[in-house]
Amino acid sequence: MSRLLALCVLFALFTNSCKSPELVDNNSEFEKFRDNFIEELWKLYPTYASSLGYYKYHDQLTIPGPDAIEKENVFANSYLDSLNTYESKELNTANRVDLELIKNFLESSLWYNNEYKSYTWDPSNYNLGGVIAEQLYKTYAPLNERLLAISSRLDKIPAYYEAEKKNISKPTIEHTELGIAQNKGSIPVFGSDMKDSVRISTLSNEQKDLLYSRIDAAKESIVSYINWLENTVKPGLTGDNVRSFRLGKELYNKKFELEIQSSFTADEIYTIAEKRKAELTNEMYTISHSLWNKYFPGKEQPLDSLLVIRSVIDTVSKFHVHRDSFMTAIEKQIPELVEFVNNKKLLYLDPSKPLIVRKTPGYMDGVAGASISSPGPYEKGENTYYNVSPLDSYSPEAAESYLREYNHYILQILNIHEAIPGHYAQLVYSNQSPSLVKSVFGNGTMVEGWAVYTERMMLEEGYGNNEPEMWLMYYKWHLRSVCNTILDYSVHCKGMEKADALDLLINKAFQQKAEAENKWKRVTLTNVQLCSYFTGYHEIYKLREEIKQKRDNQFDLKSFHEEFLGYGSAPVKYIRKMMMSK
Ligand code: ZN
Ligand code: ZN
Repeated sequence: MSRLLALCVLFALFTNSCKSPELVDNNSEFEKFRDNFIEELWKLYPTYASSLGYYKYHDQLTIPGPDAIEKENVFANSYLDSLNTYESKELNTANRVDLELIKNFLESSLWYNNEYKSYTWDPSNYNLGGVIAEQLYKTYAPLNERLLAISSRLDKIPAYYEAEKKNISKPTIEHTELGIAQNKGSIPVFGSDMKDSVRISTLSNEQKDLLYSRIDAAKESIVSYINWLENTVKPGLTGDNVRSFRLGKELYNKKFELEIQSSFTADEIYTIAEKRKAELTNEMYTISHSLWNKYFPGKEQPLDSLLVIRSVIDTVSKFHVHRDSFMTAIEKQIPELVEFVNNKKLLYLDPSKPLIVRKTPGYMDGVAGASISSPGPYEKGENTYYNVSPLDSYSPEAAESYLREYNHYILQILNIHEAIPGHYAQLVYSNQSPSLVKSVFGNGTMVEGWAVYTERMMLEEGYGNNEPEMWLMYYKWHLRSVCNTILDYSVHCKGMEKADALDLLINKAFQQKAEAENKWKRVTLTNVQLCSYFTGYHEIYKLREEIKQKRDNQFDLKSFHEEFLGYGSAPVKYIRKMMMSK
């Protein structure tokens, strides 16, 4: 109701200003429209709002199902209609990008609801552990207020999971297993920590009792959902009842277009990745060839160049930290990276925004080994976490394999990527961007591309003292991004089988078996996203070289980086437009 009302008000606003004899400022009109859109968006997606740190609707929970989808479709269509009333030409560049981003979000939302439909085949789609845990642990409001909001959300959780059971019709085996694992990871959220918080709060006894019973009911409904997946859904996943995790070319190309938002198509980036793979293999051979006598004195070099590379990499990889000091090694490195970036004047790093290394929380388990959790655009004062999954549960062999992959050299490159000047630094800038739209609809390709770009940039600037081992390991690591693209496209569009995938990763990209097995698992659970690393890197590096040419002796690396990051997490193709037009 209120959304329709808001649209009418807006409509009146446009018609009025059109009649005005004075000059119409389309930019300020668009900005009003945009801010109103964002507010309406949060009403429709209250948990999405919470995940970005906007807590106005923190007591709301949407029950998934046909009604919610219909509402979202109506929302998307009416805002798309409104957007079409704006002449893009008449807006300034920053607003033009915002307009494109909103349009892309709305078109994506329609496509996900009506074509992609993962709510019918991905039981891991819905999991409230993370959202509720953040409400409990983030001190965005007084404890009582947060608990009352949680209480109201908990009240809807049983209906939420019952609806979810109805939505699932033909799931994949892989996403069913993920749904089971992730929801199991969420159960502890509804345990003693939450009850202890209720106990120490100053809520009335009635409110407390209500909360206790809602916590138990929520937990029960999650357990029941897990049991349903394990005992009813999973045994039936045979023959025609099961959906393949492979997306197929048609859905893939469209998703690539909507999600990657690149100036390249999926086919084009796949071809560029294949070419880059050949170049990297050559570079790696040159270095391995020159290092041969250092590591294998007196031993004859094999004729097979892949074997030469593999032998040198395997030997250099034995230089790694002990499994028990994996996390402390990461912690120790952060200040060293800060110092290098500052000394070399590569980028301004805000010293008031600390980065905290922590063990990956249970509700986040499942996909990546290391990741950054940063505060959303609405909670700029909150902590940024570097989540690291410890090796506690690994067998000695698995731990050794993992540690050889993240050896002395690669661990440094990982920290460049995840922390400084990679993701952590970029996200601090993104949150400073004046445009909320660019922070909210952050483009994953730009975000990953930046992290991958900084790996090469740091080495080019002399990080690692140009040691050949460092460059060799960098190329191997970079080859991983390249092969992520090749793998993803091949598996989802060309039917690549597991054996061929492992052959690519282990024999052609020199990965350890554990790493390759994890990547296979990931490519069965996600699609398109694995292309973001290389696509974004390729676009950013290309842009930098173009700007270098254009600005000639005026070019300054630090200014380039700060200007580039200053646009927020917008797709590189739009940042490119803005930077080239200067
Ligand atoms: Zn070892
Ligand atoms: Zn990354």
